[in-house]
Amino acid sequence: MKIPPLENRLRLPELLAPAGNLEKLKIAVHYGADAVYLGGKAYGLRNLADNFTPEEMAVGIAHAHHRGVKVYLTVNSYPGNQDLPGLETYLEEVAPLPFDAWIVADPGVLQLAREIAPQRVLHLSTQANTVNWRSVRFWQEQGVSRINLAREMSLEAITETARKTQVELELFAHGAMCISYSGRCLLSSVMSGRNANQGECSHPCRWNYSLVEETRPGEYFPVMEDESGTFIFNSRDLCLIEHLPEMVASGVASLKIEGRMKGIYYVASVVRAYRTALDTMAAEGDEYRFRRGWLEELCKTSHRGFTTGFLFGQPREVGQEYHSAYLRSHQFVGLVEEIHPDGSATVGVRNRIRRGDLLELMGPGMRCATLRADEIMDEAGNPLEAANPNSRIRMALPSGTAPLDMLRREA
Ligand code: SF4
Repeated sequence: MKIPPLENRLRLPELLAPAGNLEKLKIAVHYGADAVYLGGKAYGLRNLADNFTPEEMAVGIAHAHHRGVKVYLTVNSYPGNQDLPGLETYLEEVAPLPFDAWIVADPGVLQLAREIAPQRVLHLSTQANTVNWRSVRFWQEQGVSRINLAREMSLEAITETARKTQVELELFAHGAMCISYSGRCLLSSVMSGRNANQGECSHPCRWNYSLVEETRPGEYFPVMEDESGTFIFNSRDLCLIEHLPEMVASGVASLKIEGRMKGIYYVASVVRAYRTALDTMAAEGDEYRFRRGWLEELCKTSHRGFTTGFLFGQPREVGQEYHSAYLRSHQFVGLVEEIHPDGSATVGVRNRIRRGDLLELMGPGMRCATLRADEIMDEAGNPLEAANPNSRIRMALPSGTAPLDMLRREA
């Protein structure tokens, strides 16, 4: 696809990051998200993430807005009749909070949201499976301001849709993919009684499968893709960082990172890589070129191999990961909590740190430094040989280190 000169393209898209709890929201903001999305304790899918109470939402919105970052509330489950009274009470409770938008999927929820908060900007969730420009126009006529397109759309279809519609379009750029069509999947409900479409997926598509011949029930034949078995439903993770120019040229308004269930290290690493790529694009214009280091950064978090999904057509077998292992070259070991006047830092230990470990400090904008943990102390200043997870240590870190920077080491 020929990419038009930068001046002919629309402005750079927003970078939209997951905020599974208040700590993840602060991390997403620190590492450069333009907007975050979060859910309450119910009705927002991802019911197994920590999620937010209304009080935490208020704190999170204030934190983000103070730094010019938008906050969207996900209300994208498909409630049954029995859920409607509770949903109505919940929406009335959160209506006064100054969210920049609510993300809905179900038409009934959209109608209820309109009644309870007529001025609230509404976005349409990917759960609504919008796959063509006529559907986009339909939702546009319902007053929806932005539509998160289904992951099944190709770049060509996205570009055509942007040309034929006026609403903002949002596109998943990075994160887990479902093996089924837009997450319409019953595997989890059937195999573990946890309904994926109510946000409780137990991810059986990542499990190890055997072969059973129809007339021999109970006889399991192992199928070995690697020493752990076979993983016939296991999708690779979406990663479009190499294709930002094409996505910008397509006219999408927002690039979304999947992963409210993922940890703070994942959020930090992915946001900083995409933030840096987008900022570089803004700075370099038509001289922009992709840097391998950004992809290497993404490989330092846990993932299942990368795919471009449906962007350039059907992914077929290259979208599939037949091996069990989550890939990851680095391990997150600590979060910088405080910088003291003497320049030392308090670090919240997340994985065991031993004296002498070779560590990497990471901050926003791909700021990095390699250091050796020659001296680590407990909070009272006593020297330590090793620090365990969930403890706090004091140690010297390079100048310029800030709270919410992170420490990691090669796995
Ligand atoms: S089991 Fe896998 S494919 Fe099905 S909804 Fe869950 S993550 Fe998606």
